[in-house]
Amino acid sequence: MDKLVLASRNHNKIKEMEELLQPLGIEVCSALDFPELEEVEEDQPTLEGNALKKAEYVHSVTGLPSLSDDTGLEVDALAGAPGVYSARYAGEEASYQDNVLKLLAEMKNADVRKAQFRTVMAFVTSDNAHTFEGVVEGIILDHQRGEGGFGYDPVFKPDGYEQTFAELESSVKNKISHRGRAIQEFLKFLNTG
Ligand code: IMP
Repeated sequence: MDKLVLASRNHNKIKEMEELLQPLGIEVCSALDFPELEEVEEDQPTLEGNALKKAEYVHSVTGLPSLSDDTGLEVDALAGAPGVYSARYAGEEASYQDNVLKLLAEMKNADVRKAQFRTVMAFVTSDNAHTFEGVVEGIILDHQRGEGGFGYDPVFKPDGYEQTFAELESSVKNKISHRGRAIQEFLKFLNTG
């Protein structure tokens, strides 16, 4: 494999994934490079379903090996919500900030603050489809801290660190994050497959 398409238009994710895939030494492009690609509706009930749907579509249009990811924040006190609905927790057009504020409101009186980010990546080629998972555990703070990252990063403090994901250097976040861990699994697969 000398070229891979990331099935995403999200600049934050593309940047993170490009950094994480650098060791492969292959050309990494994204859905932004293929204007003919349409938006894929993330309407499956699971992260796995959405990840496979995105990668299969991008592979079918581009003919190139395609890697997608779908991520959810799973909060214990909210019975695993927002989970697969993390992007639209506060409504269809919700911004990152709307979603964070809704989460803080829902967690206002919660004593148990355990949560995890879970990413499922799907890798689809003309021969096969595989999925890889990455999880990072932590807690939801009661206020936002930090300017970096995106999404729920300002309220998520990973276990073993004093900083939130929005306060940690991106290189540190990448090493321990849900997406970072899923990519490590993907790289292991490529090395042994
Ligand atoms: P997606 O469906 O994989 O784009 O992720 C769903 C939602 O989860 C995004 O809209 C973000 O709000 C959130 N999310 C995904 N990855 C991260 C991350 O690394 N940090 C914080 N929030 C994230």
